[in-house]
Amino acid sequence: MWFRQDLRISDNPALLSAIENGVVMPIYIFEEQIGENRKIGSASKWWLHHSLDSLNKSLDNKLNFYQGESKEILENLVEKFAISGIFWNRCYEPLRIQKDREIKSFFKQKNIIVQSFNGSLLWEPHEVLKSDQTPYKVFTPYYRKGCLQKTAPRKPLPKAENFKIFHDENNKIKLKNLQLLPTINWDKTMQNYWQIGEDFAYKKMQNFVKNNLQNYKDGRNFPSQNNVSRLSPHLHFGEISPHQIWHFAQENYREKTGELNLDHFLSELGWREFSYYLLFHFPHLPDKNFQPRFDNFLWQKNENFLQSWRKGQTGYPIVDAGMRELWQTGQMHNRVRMIVGSFLVKNLLLDWRLGEKWFWDCLVDADLASNSASWQWVAGSGADAAPYFRIFNPILQGEKFDPEGEYTRKFVPELKNLPAKFLYKPWEASTEILLNSGVKLGENYPHPIVKIDESRDLALSTFKALPKIGDEDKLT
Ligand SMILES: Cc1cc2nc3c(=O)[nH]c(=O)nc-3n(C[C@H](O)[C@H](O)[C@H](O)COP(=O)(O)OP(=O)(O)OC[C@H]3O[C@@H](n4cnc5c(N)ncnc54)[C@H](O)[C@@H]3O)c2cc1C
Repeated sequence: MWFRQDLRISDNPALLSAIENGVVMPIYIFEEQIGENRKIGSASKWWLHHSLDSLNKSLDNKLNFYQGESKEILENLVEKFAISGIFWNRCYEPLRIQKDREIKSFFKQKNIIVQSFNGSLLWEPHEVLKSDQTPYKVFTPYYRKGCLQKTAPRKPLPKAENFKIFHDENNKIKLKNLQLLPTINWDKTMQNYWQIGEDFAYKKMQNFVKNNLQNYKDGRNFPSQNNVSRLSPHLHFGEISPHQIWHFAQENYREKTGELNLDHFLSELGWREFSYYLLFHFPHLPDKNFQPRFDNFLWQKNENFLQSWRKGQTGYPIVDAGMRELWQTGQMHNRVRMIVGSFLVKNLLLDWRLGEKWFWDCLVDADLASNSASWQWVAGSGADAAPYFRIFNPILQGEKFDPEGEYTRKFVPELKNLPAKFLYKPWEASTEILLNSGVKLGENYPHPIVKIDESRDLALSTFKALPKIGDEDKLT
């Protein structure tokens, strides 16, 4: 049983099938390369370590660890241990799809049973197509017509129990040898924030559906409220499956008046599906503009802007709060992801790929599909994206979605005593108010690095100058 992004023993179709076929040798192969120019990010490595640790415990400490090229390692194992079959759940990153194909045909030729399963998506991307057999590019018809009107997602499978496990005692590689944990301990604050592994993921889901789903539709926009599930890293590493969440939420959410909340929550799982769908059908999504028109966009090159953004020192409190939340916790609330993304791309005029890369390294839920689809959505270059002219105003967004500043003050403590009226525009506060609040602009909190109105106008004129291309939404 080759574990990959399915680090759980419940609802694991590949594991159950391996068990049916005999004694199971559970293996994990650490391969750093996720894509052509992409390695697993630092925060993801940290999470992976703890997630593997948890899975190993569920397997009586008999998970076999390896590092290197999957095909070579599998070949060696098959020879050494007379293995009769290889079982795995599918991954959907383009490089993995290509490698898996090669592995499958290689071992099939050697008469080894090779079976792959769907353990991480509610609908297989290749099965959902428009009536003309081409892929959807707009979310609502994809989800409502393509997915919901198709077969319902399968029910979760039972937990794998009481099966025979083979552990290679001579294998010298232990989890710690994979060197997933950072050498400098920047992960201290993250440790307090997360409980990692299958059991915690399941409990978190139960708690969310029971206590916090009833105000999801509105509450999900407010970063200080507890109305989002925070399940994304657990989902990314497969500690929980979307099937488990989909069915648990439907069966256990009993609010008579709030079915809009449930529908909205399920549709966010639908956005996750859509991201994978786009990546599957348009494998250049992480690197190339979905709309080629944006290939001519005149992005600016400004290292100072980029550094200020990364460090949460832009002078716009809601942006800085988000960027610091990311650094401290490995996570950022969705509303704030949209705000900081819009700020990078539309106020600083920096290429969305720079933002995507930083997120990739810092997020514990960094996911090739969701991250690249969402960044393209924010930039306006994606499929079904926010139009370029819709530019989030970080002052108004702060005032609307964190009116008392609970979230912002937590992550930008230098502003914690500033009255709410000035929290999102400290430069408008009088000298006296600033003094009383302990804020020294330019000293303990920066002046804004750009003027909102000017940068907005520049973004719009840069966009308007873009030459139009006939068929804009085809990826070349
Ligand atoms: C610029 C940007 C980058 C992003 N990068 C990632 C990423 O690398 N990995 C990632 O998982 N999500 C990413 N997202 C989507 C979204 O922000 C997170 O999935 C969400 O914040 C996770 O929090 P949650 O688990 O509390 O979500 P909930 O609101 O509780 O939603 C439940 C689940 O639905 C899925 N989901 C929710 N919103 C989205 C969305 N917009 N797109 C895709 N799936 C969604 C997630 O798996 C999430 O766990 C990004 C969004 C933006 C704007």
